[in-house]
Amino acid sequence: MKLTDLFARRMVFSFEVFPPKTDRGMERLVREGGVLDRLYQLRPDYISCTYGSSGTRVGKNLEVVSKIRKDCRTLPVTHLTCIGNTKESVERQLQTYLDHGVDHVLALRGDLPAGWDGTRGDFHYATELVRFIRERFGDRFTIAVAGSPEGHIECRSLETDIAFLRQKQDLGADYIMTQLCWDMEQFRRWLDAIREAGVTMPVDVGIMPVLDEAATINMALSRNGCVMERKLSSIISRHWIFPNPFAPTEPEETVAAKKAAFREEGMAYTIEQIDACRSLDISGIHLYTLNKADAVAEIVHEAGIAGSAS
Ligand code: FAD
Repeated sequence: MKLTDLFARRMVFSFEVFPPKTDRGMERLVREGGVLDRLYQLRPDYISCTYGSSGTRVGKNLEVVSKIRKDCRTLPVTHLTCIGNTKESVERQLQTYLDHGVDHVLALRGDLPAGWDGTRGDFHYATELVRFIRERFGDRFTIAVAGSPEGHIECRSLETDIAFLRQKQDLGADYIMTQLCWDMEQFRRWLDAIREAGVTMPVDVGIMPVLDEAATINMALSRNGCVMERKLSSIISRHWIFPNPFAPTEPEETVAAKKAAFREEGMAYTIEQIDACRSLDISGIHLYTLNKADAVAEIVHEAGIAGSAS
C-alpha cells in the first residue's frame, strides 16, 4: 500500500514514535501489550519512527520500523536525516530499509547537534536528500518532507522557506509532515501561502499533545522557536511548577496536583487543535506520541479519530 493512494481517498491518521535509548524503554515499546500494540489498537494508517534526535544517535530506528513491518498491523515510515551521512551510507541504509520491507521515508536535513554549523555529511539540505533518493531508487520510496508553518527557525524568510518546500516537491517529494505549530492563525496563513506558491502535496499535520509542562516548553523553545499561543501560555501560567522568585517553594503534593491539572487541560487543548485542523484543507493528522500510548489513546478517542484506518 502507498500512502499517496490513501491521501487521495480520505483523511489519514498516524503516529510518531521514537526509538528508546535504553533496553527497558525498548522493551516497553515492542513487548506484547506494549506501546506499539496499544497504538495498533487505535488503527492508525501509519506509524513513523524518528532517526536520532541529533542525527548521530540513530539508535534502534531500524529495529523499530522492521518490527512495525513484521507485525503487519500498520505501515512503517522511517525518518532519515543528512546529519553525518555520506552518499554511500544513505544508499546503504535505504537499501536496508527496502530489504526489511520499509519503503516510506521522511527525508530531513536533521537537527544540527550543538556546536555544529553544518551537517558534516554529503547532503546539506533535505532537497539534496530527496533528489538523491529519487535518482538512486526511482519510485521505490514514497517520500515525505518536513514543512514549518511558522517558517523553519533558520530560514531567511517564510517566502524562501516555502520556495524550498516547492523545490522538494519538484524534486519528487510526495507529501508534507508539518512541524508543531500552536498558532492556528499562522497555520492557516501558511496553508494558503504554500498553495499560492504551487505546493500541491498533501499536508499531514503534526500535532504535539500537550501533556507535560516541561516537555511542552522544551519542544517549543529549545529548537523550534514556536509561538506559545495565548490560551496555551495561560494553561502553563496557571499551573506553573518551576522555581518562581515571586512565590515560596511549593509542597510536592501541590506540584503533583498542578501537573495533573495541566495534563487534563492540555489534553482538552490538543483535542481543540485537532478539531481546528480538521476543518481546514488538510490530508492527515499525525500525532507525536512521545511513546505515551495511554494519553494518546484518550486523545484520539475523545477527538473521534480512532479507527479511521480501513
Ligand atoms: P531543510 O528543508 O533542509 O531546511 C533547513 C533550513 O535550510 C531551512 O531554514 C530552509 O529554509 C533552509 N534551506 C532549505 N533548503 C535550502 C537550500 N537549498 N539552500 C539554502 N537554504 C535552504 N530531526 C531529526 O534529527 N530526527 C528526526 O527524526 C526528526 N523528525 C522530524 C519529524 C517531523 C515531522 C518534523 C517536522 C521535523 C523532524 N525533525 C527531525 C526536525 C528536522 O530535522 C529539523 O527541523 C531540521 O532543523 C530541518 O529539517 P528540514 O528537513 O526541514 O530541513
